Amino acid sequence: MHFHVITIFPEVCAAYTSASVLGRAQKTEKGKGAKVRGKKIEVSYYNPRDFTKDKHKKVDDRPYGGGPGMVMKAEPILKAWEKAVGRKQNKKKIKTLIMSPRGTVFTNELAKGWVKKYDHLVLISGRYEGIDARVKAILKADEVSVGDYVLTGGELPALTIIDSVSRQVPGVLGTFESLEDERVSSGEMYTRPETFVHKKKQHPVPEVFLSGNHHDIETRRSLK
Ligand code: SAH
Repeated sequence: MHFHVITIFPEVCAAYTSASVLGRAQKTEKGKGAKVRGKKIEVSYYNPRDFTKDKHKKVDDRPYGGGPGMVMKAEPILKAWEKAVGRKQNKKKIKTLIMSPRGTVFTNELAKGWVKKYDHLVLISGRYEGIDARVKAILKADEVSVGDYVLTGGELPALTIIDSVSRQVPGVLGTFESLEDERVSSGEMYTRPETFVHKKKQHPVPEVFLSGNHHDIETRRSLK
């Protein structure tokens, strides 16, 4: 899966996608013996400012019809999109998503479906009061929300989607983590020490977790 992020803050996002699991998934790895495992994901950034023509590199302007704030101009975003995937032959393998608090709410199910259907996800991150509506129409994009709240920009939503979709790409997680993921969340967990002392009070790990009885442990975890 190749992610293409259109944002005026690429460096903010790159710090996150180059770390940990996502960072590793973008590298080729030497496996056992002579085996080389390929990249599982790629992440590319495109800054609309690099696609402006004026000397101030203006990416926003006042809204038609009035109202407060500024709107992101269509042209720099469309040019960034062209640079990202415009030349790709098989447009059926490309999905374009616009981050918007009014979009379809993102779920694990959507993530799974995209991994099966597409090779390229373009994530357009808004700022200010949002993006000129012609971008959505021209690119036949879908609007996606990460939840019922409003953020100052689409960067965190784009990162949320990249993170969650990547977990569904085969090979990004280890086998054990993938199995864990089947259950969506692992519930109540403990690690050492067996008895944690906090402000003179003892907090022991519940007995069932030390019992070795996996059935009882699963039951307890799924209750919480
Ligand atoms: N008044 C605007 C708010 C824009 S918030 C409106 O009603 O749309 C600025 C940008 O942040 C948006 O363009 C969008 O890209 C992003 N954003 C904010 N909240 C979001 C959410 N819950 N999900 C996805 N994107 C969001």
